[in-house]
Amino acid sequence: MTASPTPRTYRVKSFGCQMNVYDGERMAELLADKGMAPAADGEDADLVVLNTCHIREKAAEKVYSDIGRLKKADGSKPLIAVAGCVAQAEGDEIMARAPAVSMVVGPQAYHRLPELLDKAARGERATDTDMPANAKFDALPQRRRAGPSAFLTVQEGCDKFCTYCVVPYTRGAEISRPYADLLAEAERLVDNGAREITLLGQNVNAWTGETAKGHTLGLDGLIRELAKLPDLHRIRYTTSHPNDVTPGLIAAHGEVDKLMPYLHLPVQSGSDRVLKAMNRSHTADSYLALLDRFRAVRPDIALSGDFIVGFPGETDAEFAETLRLVDAVGYAAAFSFKYSPRPGTPAAEMDGMVPMTVMDERLQRLQAAINRDQLAFNQASIGTTCQVLVERKGKHPGQWLGKSPWLQSVHFIGEAAVGDLVTVELTEAGPNSLSARLLQPALA
Ligand code: SAM
Ligand code: SF4
Repeated sequence: MTASPTPRTYRVKSFGCQMNVYDGERMAELLADKGMAPAADGEDADLVVLNTCHIREKAAEKVYSDIGRLKKADGSKPLIAVAGCVAQAEGDEIMARAPAVSMVVGPQAYHRLPELLDKAARGERATDTDMPANAKFDALPQRRRAGPSAFLTVQEGCDKFCTYCVVPYTRGAEISRPYADLLAEAERLVDNGAREITLLGQNVNAWTGETAKGHTLGLDGLIRELAKLPDLHRIRYTTSHPNDVTPGLIAAHGEVDKLMPYLHLPVQSGSDRVLKAMNRSHTADSYLALLDRFRAVRPDIALSGDFIVGFPGETDAEFAETLRLVDAVGYAAAFSFKYSPRPGTPAAEMDGMVPMTVMDERLQRLQAAINRDQLAFNQASIGTTCQVLVERKGKHPGQWLGKSPWLQSVHFIGEAAVGDLVTVELTEAGPNSLSARLLQPALA
């Protein structure tokens, strides 16, 4: 490979989960620290970082086709870095199959992207997929920019080993970032304009830390401490695991006003046999009982979940149990996926692969049930007065878009600015968004 001129502009394309969005923002900050600027919309970038997701099928094929399509207006290729979970899982193969790629960097090693760039400038191709715990966060620059709603990764990795999932292999074992670092990062985000912080982790409620005085905290303790930041108005967290829900976390929903009434708690299936084969270590009933405890302290809480249809061996009767669970919960939102065999996971070796046509049909039925409940949830909010955090301008003159406490997308017309918390009355509901009337402009 010949030496490349030092890139001046970059574009980071993040796929998949919110943790990848966070990682993408941190990579952009590293590149800005190296004197590079983000490429303007529609303009070529000298460096493109593909921040990939490996959770479902065809992830690697998608990366190769993206690499093939990346071209500048003059027909030349930009410098290409592949980051994220596909990089971690298939880095060597990417290097062998895609000569246009100069850098492969895993999710725990991207703080070393500047060194990889220096190597690329010398014409060397390099891979870094080490997994040193917490080293990345220590080496990253301080946060500089924040929108009104910011992500903060507090926990990474997973020790749960659900039999379908690649995360324990691509993101490594569970680690919690130190409490003091998180407080400092949150303060910085708020100083830079964040009014809402979403705490992120593959199992965010497995987070644990220690205060300077040696007190052990769980996620609820972290939430209570962050709630003391005067200019932070909203706190959210995702994704939780049923096994890591503590009484303290449930209680926080009844006691901490700044903790938004929203819970994303994946269940995956309503069948205990399937849950066991998935190694989920909760049952449908224990999951429902947990939701009841959240509802007891916060009756208006919006519930969300994740589902997989067509896990190996799933019968029609077992799928019907999933539909029954959905009916019982009445989700405000939920994500549902067709099972995708991931190489190296135990489920990929299981018998009883469900035919694609059956999976398609099950997914459609499940999504219809979820959409029905989502619309019902939104319709039930009509007439409610609530606060909306304004995130951006809408398409129409004078229109603004933001989020309700229940994470619904809300649009309204009136005097406002990005970052304002305004009071509105919700007036009309669709399945994915609500219209509102502005009652009171921004809180000072
Ligand atoms: N840690 C979280 C949990 O336990 O639910 C979420 C992690 S995963 C990134 C997000 C979702 O992707 C999972 O909840 C699951 O529904 C889905 N998922 C993971 N592996 C999958 C697979 N092999 N096929 C289909 N969906 C999958
Ligand atoms: Fe994957 Fe299960 Fe861990 Fe969630 S809990 S990241 S689904 S292994």
